[in-house]
Amino acid sequence: MPAPVPFDPQEIVDAKYEERPTREGVTTKRMICAACDIACSVVGEVQKGRVTKIRSSDNPIFKDNICMKGIVAPKGLAHPNRILHPLKRVGERGSGKFEQVTWEEAMGDIGGRLKKIIAEYGPEAWAVSTSQWNTSTDHGLGRRVMNHVGSPNWISGVALCAGNTAAVNRFTYGWFPFGDFSSTNCIVLMGHNPRRHSWTPLYNSIRSAQARGAKLIVMDPRRSSSAERADIWLPLKAGSDAAMMFGWLKVIIDEELYDKEFVANWTLGFEDLKERVNEYPLERVAELTGCDPEMIAEAARVYATSGPSIIPWTPITDMQRNSTSGIRLQTILRSICGYVDVPGGELLQGFNPDIVNESTVEMHHVLSDEQKLKQLGSKDHPAFTYRGQLAFREPTQRVYGQEYANLVTGCHMATPSETFRAMAGEGEYPVKAFFFLGNNPLMSYANMPLIHKAMMNQDLIVSHEQFMTPSAQLADYILPADSWLERPWIHDMFGWMSTIRFSEKAMDPPGDCKSTFEFWKQIAGALDMPEVVPWDTIEDFYDYRVAGTGKSFADLISDTEVYFKKPAFKTYEKTGFATPSGKVELKSSLLEELGFDPLPYFREDPPHDKDYPQKMFTGVREDPYFQTGHRHIPEMRARCPEPQIYLNEKTAKAAGVAEGDWVSVENQLGSVKAILAVKDAMPDDLVRVPHGWWKPEMKQGNGSLSGAWDYSDAQLCRDDPDYLDHEQGIPHLKGIPCRVVPLAAEGPAKAASNAQHMEPAE
Ligand code: SF4
Repeated sequence: MPAPVPFDPQEIVDAKYEERPTREGVTTKRMICAACDIACSVVGEVQKGRVTKIRSSDNPIFKDNICMKGIVAPKGLAHPNRILHPLKRVGERGSGKFEQVTWEEAMGDIGGRLKKIIAEYGPEAWAVSTSQWNTSTDHGLGRRVMNHVGSPNWISGVALCAGNTAAVNRFTYGWFPFGDFSSTNCIVLMGHNPRRHSWTPLYNSIRSAQARGAKLIVMDPRRSSSAERADIWLPLKAGSDAAMMFGWLKVIIDEELYDKEFVANWTLGFEDLKERVNEYPLERVAELTGCDPEMIAEAARVYATSGPSIIPWTPITDMQRNSTSGIRLQTILRSICGYVDVPGGELLQGFNPDIVNESTVEMHHVLSDEQKLKQLGSKDHPAFTYRGQLAFREPTQRVYGQEYANLVTGCHMATPSETFRAMAGEGEYPVKAFFFLGNNPLMSYANMPLIHKAMMNQDLIVSHEQFMTPSAQLADYILPADSWLERPWIHDMFGWMSTIRFSEKAMDPPGDCKSTFEFWKQIAGALDMPEVVPWDTIEDFYDYRVAGTGKSFADLISDTEVYFKKPAFKTYEKTGFATPSGKVELKSSLLEELGFDPLPYFREDPPHDKDYPQKMFTGVREDPYFQTGHRHIPEMRARCPEPQIYLNEKTAKAAGVAEGDWVSVENQLGSVKAILAVKDAMPDDLVRVPHGWWKPEMKQGNGSLSGAWDYSDAQLCRDDPDYLDHEQGIPHLKGIPCRVVPLAAEGPAKAASNAQHMEPAE
């Protein structure tokens, strides 16, 4: 998921460049690509009112930041499958039968039905799922409307991808830091594998850092392309990240490689941490991770002595049964080595004071404490819920000037699994209305069979979408959504950083497509609370948000590439950290208050099940696709026509399957089909299952759901207690027991595979 562009804003402002000349009849727009989660600055070329080309930025700082998904966007968004008008379900839920209606007709019915559900079951019976990366943003307006209505049950894919990292980072030092790629000396990638066509700007930043001599350490079970370029590669067992970091801490503390002054002056709990770390001697860590103890020690020494070093955000540690401990261990490594809020280290930038941020737009203060405590997941897995983040209100006000910092939108949300259980009628109270925006929830969270049951049990489902996804096929209403080519955007790094960029609208949306701004404005109106979204247009709303700059939105978009406040370092010396103690809490007072171990720990795997001899990891995506999207674009499908699993030759032989075979990957929850690609870069018994596969060309409606029941990896993602992180309630996706079995030939049996021996595993 998300990974804002790493850059030094001053360098971009200072960059001297001329815009490339354009052909007669062509105008250009400066835009931010939203075809994936990383927000490249690009240029849109417009001819006769339509975007005909996306090319890279003229600014030399951004010029290499573009990939095939961005380039193909104008064609992908002009695809005949695009939903152009509101659709209302006319058959049974899941029948796939819809008729065209107007926005007015849709909103009249949706408002009436939602009000009835709220009157009968309470406002908490309304849940919303969205990922800001798919919609660019909903500007915080979704939370704003929900907070006024009284529902705390907002969920997002950021629950298991960056949003949860942000929330857990706050437990240690009160904010979510961003690595200073421009002057760091050492980068640590934990399973993360940025490439030319995936996390492109991050890839470019890493290459630049290496070119000027920065070291690269990669932890990854696979010999990934990043691993091949690393100074040190630790091929650890999938899901053993937390154990590995205990090994690093053991070396760093035993050899006194940490920053003693910072630890003495600015941290709490070092002695307790030391005791816990002593439970993990290198021999034990070597056993838990499968790595050589000397290599573990060497990597720890490089990280601690060649710094300042950075550990960039990674989705991998976000998705494990030890996720909270893993993320906390990252924060502890950064802290005790003295890398927090220093040049070349991990920057705590706070909000930009001139821009009204989305946390403010959300108006969390209007939701009563009683409703906040009803947030699903609060009781058992509170880390990122209102309850878990409650104690940050005062310190966040003290340091960052406001009570609610909803960093990466992940700091005050319901737990997805608990929400789907409530929707399925198995929770602490019923949820009967479900809205999703730019989101394919059926396939985007763990336990797809549960989510399907949950959706079939709803009284009202509303989807704001561009294409007929498997989830949209189960909706009562599908409202057509605009795209990033068709609307302006303020990109505020989702509250993570203080740099702000702007994207111009390049063309009008087709048909009746409307933006998330208009969606939420109309929902507020349909609920008889139009005053909650008082701005007439998105431009008016943006003028309100940028008023503190002294400029209008139109001025900023025309003359400002990046709006930023000068990076400041060690601001904690003036304000303290945004934790209850004002210090870096190596031992977390808040986790202790919530009833959890205040120190990180490592939960080993549950007992081995002999019926499932392999382990799989999922969450990975192929370069032409972002999450569950883009499968309808011929140029993208040609590059990757079918889902592929990867095994090495030995494991494939043991499973009785061979290169190009259709196989089934199965576990106790479900099964998926895929083509086998043999990759020697995979370790023994590890299976890579790609994320988010369905086929838009297949039959719509229940039964097939356009192939979601055949291919969607969410069918294998368990959310039973052994496979959930305790503190956050997020699923373990990195090392799930499974088996690979041959599948009778289907479709394009023995379809041509792109895989080749000895390629890196992506
Ligand atoms: S990496 Fe590609 S898809 Fe993602 S924002 Fe950049 S150009 Fe767009």
